[in-house]
Amino acid sequence: MATDLRVSLIDRCNFRCTYCMPAEGLPWLARDDVLRAEEVERLARLLVRLGVREIKLTGGEPTVRPDLAFVVARLRAIDPEIDLSLTTNGYLLDRLAGPLAEAGLDRVTISCDSLLRHRFAEMTRRDALDRVLAGVDAARAADLTPIKVNCVVIGGTNDREAVAFAELARRTGAEVRFIEFMPLDADERWSGDRVVPSATLRRRIEAVFPLRPADRLAPQPAQVYRFADGAPGSVGFVSSVTEPFCDTCNRIRITADGQFRSCLFATEETDLRGPMRSGADDGDLERLIRTAVAGKWAGHRIGRADFVRPGRSMSMIGG
Ligand code: SAM
Ligand code: SF4
Repeated sequence: MATDLRVSLIDRCNFRCTYCMPAEGLPWLARDDVLRAEEVERLARLLVRLGVREIKLTGGEPTVRPDLAFVVARLRAIDPEIDLSLTTNGYLLDRLAGPLAEAGLDRVTISCDSLLRHRFAEMTRRDALDRVLAGVDAARAADLTPIKVNCVVIGGTNDREAVAFAELARRTGAEVRFIEFMPLDADERWSGDRVVPSATLRRRIEAVFPLRPADRLAPQPAQVYRFADGAPGSVGFVSSVTEPFCDTCNRIRITADGQFRSCLFATEETDLRGPMRSGADDGDLERLIRTAVAGKWAGHRIGRADFVRPGRSMSMIGG
């Protein structure tokens, strides 16, 4: 059974990153279709019993959900030992970091695609770099560490900033993770020639800051490197397109509307919300989950002629 669960808490977002959603947003879910806090807790409790050890809250943008701290507290109460984290664009972290830490959140991953104000604004369609960097500081002050910074790299846009991001890692002690652009943008503008292979970025960084592979504590999608000179921080590479890691992937997902997915790229989902709202007991839900996990496929086929895009884009699935 998978050990790493990603739960999308909401499909809405206060940013409009070009590689994720269109400027006008998407047709949002009706509020009643989104899982309530107690429903998220019930599914998480069941999955923890089945072996989940890490829960990551995501979206859409999870911090725009008004009851986020309440959800965190309910999940923390399931088991004090699970690794409970949040992926966020960081825009609201300056005021939320403290309350979330108090509710029991362990750490955050903050997305930041450029350290240049104009490019950040161009990529996210929000002039918000300063606020996001303030969010990183607030997360550090609230001890939501180790902090990870997610940077989606798009050819011809931010790919020349790899060394600047490595400097950010060295300065703040964060793990900066470079993510290859995946064909999960709602606009369907993805093309292979806009994917910058992780190997290229790593070479650029190594020319300035020699790297050494970090010790791996658990299988994870990012290949992580530390700085050979012993500086703090690290860089990680999520090479979903050029070096897929499907063989070792142990992630499962629940969307904001309660659909269970065994892969980011899955074209099929298993409805858990419907059965849950019509009286299914935990045994029924467990059977649905086990069947879905057993059907997990060998791997996606990005770049091949038979690749099929999932019916929903990244923010609807929960990245
Ligand atoms: N809104 C939060 C955020 O941006 O961190 C959480 C949800 S977002 C969908 C999760 C992660 O997916 C972010 O790091 C984002 O940059 C990444 N992402 C979104 N669209 C992507 C794409 N087409 N390819 C690769 N990563 C993508
Ligand atoms: Fe929003 Fe995150 Fe998608 Fe950007 S990547 S539009 S912040 S959900």
